[in-house]
Order: sequence, then structure tokens, then C-alpha cells
Amino acid sequence: MSDAKRWHELAAGIKPETRLFIDGKFVDAVDGQRFTTFDPATGRPIAEMVRGNARDVDLAVKAARRAYRGGAWSRMAPRARMDVLYRLARLMEEHADEFALLDCLDMGKPITELTTGDVPFSVLTFQYFAETIDKIEGTVTSTDPGALHMIVREPLGVVACVTPWNYPLMMAAWKVAPALAAGNSVILKPAEQSPMSALLLARLCAQAGVPDGVFNVVNGFGEDTGRVLGLHMDVDKVAFTGSTEVGKLMMVYAGQSNMKKVTTECGGKSPQIVMADADLDAAVTYAVNGIYTNQGEVCSAGSRLLVQESLYDAFVDRFAAEAQRFQPGDPLDPATTMGPLVTPEQQKRVLGYIESGKEEGARVVIGGGRPAGLDAGNYVQPTLFSGVRQTMRIAREEIFGPVGAAIPFKTAEDAVAIANDTIYGLASSIWTRDLNTAHRMARDIEAGIVWINCYEHGDMTQPWGGYKQSGQGRDKCFETMLNHMQTKSVWINLG
Ligand code: NAD
Repeated sequence: MSDAKRWHELAAGIKPETRLFIDGKFVDAVDGQRFTTFDPATGRPIAEMVRGNARDVDLAVKAARRAYRGGAWSRMAPRARMDVLYRLARLMEEHADEFALLDCLDMGKPITELTTGDVPFSVLTFQYFAETIDKIEGTVTSTDPGALHMIVREPLGVVACVTPWNYPLMMAAWKVAPALAAGNSVILKPAEQSPMSALLLARLCAQAGVPDGVFNVVNGFGEDTGRVLGLHMDVDKVAFTGSTEVGKLMMVYAGQSNMKKVTTECGGKSPQIVMADADLDAAVTYAVNGIYTNQGEVCSAGSRLLVQESLYDAFVDRFAAEAQRFQPGDPLDPATTMGPLVTPEQQKRVLGYIESGKEEGARVVIGGGRPAGLDAGNYVQPTLFSGVRQTMRIAREEIFGPVGAAIPFKTAEDAVAIANDTIYGLASSIWTRDLNTAHRMARDIEAGIVWINCYEHGDMTQPWGGYKQSGQGRDKCFETMLNHMQTKSVWINLG
């Protein structure tokens, strides 16, 4: 049986959990509502998901608070909490195919990306944060001999994780793992476009021994469940990944309610800068992957290709040839390198940007529309524009699709000025063989991540997050664990 046939057979037999997960049980919504989730490759409905609203959110928050105060998780001995999360990671590995299938069907990502990327990285995320649990220490400060002053770290309480659809399981893992590891109770609200894999995670959490009420999943729409969590008076933190627009709303909601802590991981318009002395082969390979992986639906997509003038034409030609590796196709076929976009609305939005690029005078080098023969799905061709000016919309706005914009520049100073001429500051890369140039540019670029002679490299120790309007939090890394805790000063008068 071909691999594609095997995945199709698995997909045909799949019976996803559709209910909410509150207080250790799968439940229907209080008002009984549901919504349909669709397969972006075919347009066919996959499942009728339970749609939560304010009353369900409230039940989840109450359960989370109760569990937090009960202490079964928040005061569990560190090694015991570590054991539970390690067990969860093992269970996730055992269910790797199921996770891959659910996200593939829900949002159209190629199955091979899921089995080699999203799923193992999600497992690793739980392992990493489990490892940090007994590395958290407080401090005894140097102070007056008449006092003993301890600074202790405690969890925050109830954390709401609101996540996007582009890496459904992995973004949930990045948010949920540190929140749980730190001893908080969690309510996960996945994106309405990709609600399924979070419920498998909930089942495995229960199986691993996460106590009832500590991990809850409330599917639903942003304006209902997401907004209600953001405004809730008994949520202590919102850990958000998604658009800059909604990230800002989360900060407003916090101000309108209980001043809950908010961390945001938002959009980007990341530059890949190629200096004339770059290793052209490597730069082109990484640049192509940097914009077309996951259909370009990546926060750190290297969507602006800034190329020094003397290399510009050669780079564009080589890029166009190399981009042939990305061919839209059936995401359940392990050979497929590019799937459909998540929804018809996203497809329309991306095609609209392509039209704007044409209207503003950029030249379509490859792609520029929908691929032939894939009309049932939300497909867009991998597209490259050349002759792009920094003033064009395709150079300024986050497209969140497979559209690259090649912009020429003269000097390193020009490149930095163009790179920084954006409201965003998530990621960037510099291709050069000159150490001084690399260091100077890395210092001057306003972004949370600078890759030199690579793109999308990293591991769990790497802080992931942006400058400017790409957000004000960090995912992965030890700092993230600390951001899910608060310090308490205990001052003892020794008399
Ligand atoms: P989105 O902002 O539309 O939705 C994100 C989440 O917020 C979803 O769960 C959604 O239901 C919820 N939401 C929507 N409207 C809401 C509202 N009014 N109040 C409260 N919650 C609301 O983003 P998306 O389209 O799902 O994801 C794409 C965006 O995510 C892109 O901008 C991308 O760059 C960003 N992203 C950033 C990172 C990062 O690490 N920086 C990672 C992945 C995605």
C-alpha cells in the first residue's frame, strides 16, 4: 500500500473527539451549539465540533480555579509533576500519527511536515518544560542581620492559552507546556479553524495523570470564547499567539478587566538579507524554504527577500528554479511539499495581495494565482515578485501565504534601513561571509531573532518572540517558564 493510500485510509476511519474538555470530562456546550470544521484540501466537512461560549468558559475557569486552589497540581512535588509531563510526552509519541492526521485534515499542512516537524517538536516542548520544573529556585537576599528575606516563585493561577491555526498542536504545546510545568491551571482555546488536535491532547493529559480541572479545552470562536477569556475577571494570564490585531485586543481586554498578565506572539514581515558575498546556493535553498514552508502560513516566514544589487538577478533566477521543489498537492501524500491554505477566506486574502502586487507594478516571476486542477481546495501557487519597492503592500503587510517579495538594495546600511522599516520585528536573516558585516547587521536589526547564514534553525533554548508589533512575549526557552510564575517576598523579622 502506498503511503498516501495508508494516510487516506486512516483519515477515512478517523472519529475525532468533538466535545469540550472541562474539569476532567468531555462535555457538550451549555447551549448545545456546534460548528463545522472543514478539510481545506477538499472543502468537505470533517466534524461537527462543540462550540463553547461565555457560559462554558466560565465553567472551565471555575474548574481551573478550584483545581489550582486544591493544590493537587500547583503544590505537587516537582519530581511528581515532572513524571506526569514526561508520561504525557510519551503518550503523545505513541499517538503521533493521530495528531499528524488531525492537524493535516484541519488546516492542510503536508503530512510529512507534521510527522517530522510539528508533532516531534510538540513532544520535545513538553519534555523540555518538564525538565525545568525542579530547576526553579528562589533566593535568600543579603539583608539586615535582623531579618531573613526570601524571594519565592509561585505559579500565577489560571492561565488562558489562545492559539492560532497555522501550527495547531505545536502552538498549543508552546503555550500549554510552560503554563502547566509552572503549576498553573490552564484553559486552552484553539483557533476555530483547527479545533481537533487539542482534544486529543486533553485525553492524553488525563491519561498521563494531570488532575481534573488543571487542563481544559474550550473550542469556539474568537469573539465569543477568546474575548470572554481575555475579559474574564478570574483569569490571571492570557498567553496569546495570533495576529497583531487580536494581540492588541488582548491587551485592551486586560486593561478593561482585571489587569491580567498578557504575553503576545504576533505577526511578522521578516527580511532575509542576502549580501553580495553570500554563499548563493545555500542562501537560495534557505530562502525558498523560509517563505514556502507551511504554505507561507508561518509567523516567521521570510517574506521579504532583500538582495544586494550585484547579485539580485542571479538570485531571482536561482530562486525561481529552486522553488519548483514546492508543488501544491494532496497534503495526505507524504511526497507533497505544499498544501492548501487554511480557508477559502485566507485563499481570497492571499490572492488579493497577489493582485495588489501586480497593480502596484511588481513583476510576477513565478506563480501568481491558483494552481490548475486543484479547484476543490484553497490552493495558491508559490509566488515570487521581483522589482518590489518597500512602499508596496506586498512588502509592508503580513500576507500569511506563499508569496515572496524580492527587493534590491545597495549597501548594508540600506539593507538594515529597509529591514527595519516595518511595524513588525519577529525574525530576520543575514547571508554574508564577512564576520564584521554579520555582527554589525545583527546588532542593528530590530527583531527578536537574527539568523546568520541559515533560517529557521534553533532548539528549545532559543527565545522565540518579537520586537515591536510582533509581540512582547517569548516562547520556548527558560524565560518562558519564569513568565508563568510570579515572585513573592517573604520578610521574616528575626527580632
Ligand atoms: P487570529 O489573531 O485571528 O486568531 C488567533 C486566536 O485568537 C484564535 O484562537 C482566535 O479564535 C482568537 N481570536 C480571534 N478574534 C478574537 C477576539 N476578538 N478576541 C479574542 N480572541 C480572538 O490569528 P490566526 O489567523 O489564527 O493566526 C495567524 C496569525 O498568528 C498571524 O498573524 C501569525 O503571524 C500569527 N502567529 C504568530 C506566531 C509567533 O510565534 N509570533 C506563531 C504563529 C502564528
